[in-house]
Amino acid sequence: MARYTDPVCRLCRREGVKLYLKGERCYTDKCAIDRRGYAPGQHGQGRSKRASEYGMQLREKQKARRIYGVLERQFEAYYEEAARRKGITGDNLLQLLESRLDNVVYRLGFAGSRPEARQLVKHGHFAVNGRRVDIPSYLVRVNDVITVQEKSTTSPKFKEILEAAEGKTVVAWLSRDLEIRSGTVLRVPVREEIDSPVAEQLIIEYYSR
Ligand code: SF4
Repeated sequence: MARYTDPVCRLCRREGVKLYLKGERCYTDKCAIDRRGYAPGQHGQGRSKRASEYGMQLREKQKARRIYGVLERQFEAYYEEAARRKGITGDNLLQLLESRLDNVVYRLGFAGSRPEARQLVKHGHFAVNGRRVDIPSYLVRVNDVITVQEKSTTSPKFKEILEAAEGKTVVAWLSRDLEIRSGTVLRVPVREEIDSPVAEQLIIEYYSR
């Protein structure tokens, strides 16, 4: 499956906000957006701050894609599904993105960033309801139980991850039990519980043009 492979800090600098794509580094003074908070590229520092309405809609869509690590076509498919569902399309869109298995693994503290969660899922380190799932875009449902695979816990990498997880709080719509290395989806998150810095209305406007 295709994925974005360019230096990720450029993405934050392009969007002008921290997207937290590099785990612990994002919280240190090594963060590129703290050191060079202007857009990347030759003309980054001189770029006009004013954007057209379309430009703002486009940037918001790109920002959301980059936060969740979703490529263009898949993101459009999420929008179409969100529009098809009952309720507010913007809320539906964010709920779909939050339901991705890689996002849930990240939210449970079993990875330092969404890109890391995506890789761990792809390498088969997690099970959903007891069955191995290695598809980062897998959509979890209410009452699903996500577990770190038993054999994965013996690796030094996972010992480190599980130790780090102890210091991380878990969002209210999930519960976590570190003793048994698992988490449960308690409910679908409401908009106020999703802290991603996204103005979803602009994304809806982008696709409604
Ligand atoms: Fe973004 Fe993290 Fe890089 Fe900072 S360190 S620019 S938050 S990916």
